Amino acid sequence: MSIVVQKYGGSSVADAEAIKRVARRIVETRRAGHSVCVVVSAMGDTTDELLDLAEQVTPGPPARELDMLLTSGERISMALVAMAIAQHGVEARSFTGSQAGVITDAAHGAARIIDVTPGRIEDALGAGHVAIVAGFQGVSQTTKDITTLGRGGSDTTAVALAAALHADVCEIYTDVDGVFTADPRILPTARKVDVLSMEEMLDLAANGSKILHLRCVEYARRYGIPIHVRSSWSQREGTWIKDNPYQGEGAVEAPIIAGIAHDRSEAKITIVGVPDRVGVAARIFGAIADAGLNIDMIVQNVSVADAADTAKTDISFTLPQGDGAKGVQVLQGIKSDVDYHDLLLDDSIGKIALVGAGMKSHPGVSARFFRALADAGINIEMISTSEIRVSAVTRADQLDDAVRAVHTAFGLDSTEGEAIVYGGTGR
Ligand code: ASP
Ligand code: MG
Repeated sequence: MSIVVQKYGGSSVADAEAIKRVARRIVETRRAGHSVCVVVSAMGDTTDELLDLAEQVTPGPPARELDMLLTSGERISMALVAMAIAQHGVEARSFTGSQAGVITDAAHGAARIIDVTPGRIEDALGAGHVAIVAGFQGVSQTTKDITTLGRGGSDTTAVALAAALHADVCEIYTDVDGVFTADPRILPTARKVDVLSMEEMLDLAANGSKILHLRCVEYARRYGIPIHVRSSWSQREGTWIKDNPYQGEGAVEAPIIAGIAHDRSEAKITIVGVPDRVGVAARIFGAIADAGLNIDMIVQNVSVADAADTAKTDISFTLPQGDGAKGVQVLQGIKSDVDYHDLLLDDSIGKIALVGAGMKSHPGVSARFFRALADAGINIEMISTSEIRVSAVTRADQLDDAVRAVHTAFGLDSTEGEAIVYGGTGR
């Protein structure tokens, strides 16, 4: 008998009918002889609605109270799913994150899991019950307050529980059939990918793919938990995310391109006319880091043409849009020190990232990527690469076109009809 952790996203439990459908699936898994621990998200767009509600009561609600409010969404789902399972004569018990032993740090809204002590879940499974856990939440080790793990955090709850319970697999049920070569909501010709390495999935998640929470993939890689992303509406095999699928026994060939991620949530700051001196970048990014701002791409290149007389450079970097104003404020604070000329904040940028383990050994990937963008009339503002990724910043309103053009240029368009989006509002 194996231990299975199943996570159902918001669209899979959006209403009473959906909850009953999911309950049937859980009951089938239990009746097949598995121990089943289920993690649920809040129903449909509940989390967004609660956030809107808080904003109406007060702009900038206290973080502790916001976490109290948001965690109620998952508690509604967990109780309803447990009731729906009981209807089939199978015993189910629901647990909050805190009851399930999800211990976090005290960072409200973005807490990190530091330990999982799932004694009550183990007892429930041992008694033959299905355990239902509220996702996306835990309890702070120090303050004992209820915390949330950040948007999309239920995925991380599921993998953390899978690791703590020594589960054989963590199944993530969503509203599409798996991980696609691009977001099927903007590109219906995207195709489902059968297998991805942990590294590929990490890069896709870090570059804007919404299918899995970034920390969930980090956690899965650290603890070697295989993830199976699939639809709760179909019985189809989804996408397996594993360690080393391209090596050893049962290996498949690494694809040149595993997928394309896109992201519209970043902003770009350009520091104009920075003196070309030792230590300047350290000063700038030290101040940004001290402010707790997380940056992504950085571009700097002293122009040889100008260097002789001016010895100035421009530095651009990207960061989350919500941190743009703070970034500008921090840099204004060191203006006299660094002696740069001007600051520009731009939040109409988009980022496209092409990820694939096979590109390591295939020349010409960047050339084909840039050619596709050029042919579509899209200007590239920043470029960054790693061994298995090429990414570029474009205008935000050209991003969808960029994804389409690159997808076609790499021959990724499906020949088997359009991808199915079963539910959700994409909000
Ligand atoms: N309900 C939370 C959200 O909408 C957490 C999750 O669904 O994973 O972000
Ligand atoms: Mg999600």
